[in-house]
Amino acid sequence: MINQGECPKCGNRLLHVRIESIFGQNNGSGEVRCLSLSCIHCNIVLGVQMDPRSRARPRRKEAEEGRTVV
Ligand SMILES: [Zn+2]
Repeated sequence: MINQGECPKCGNRLLHVRIESIFGQNNGSGEVRCLSLSCIHCNIVLGVQMDPRSRARPRRKEAEEGRTVV
């Protein structure tokens, strides 16, 4: 596999990214766990995404399912 992605700031090949756990502010109605992906060379933030491991506040449907399971 050949990595061809380059950091847009420092131009290094992007072989690694630094992943940091951050919080996204949801319009003042709470915080959502997010992950920021940054260049290990110059620390520029390349992207931010929702943390797939985080569990959002359970929706009504999921809460009902949880109740019936237990
Ligand atoms: Zn960089």
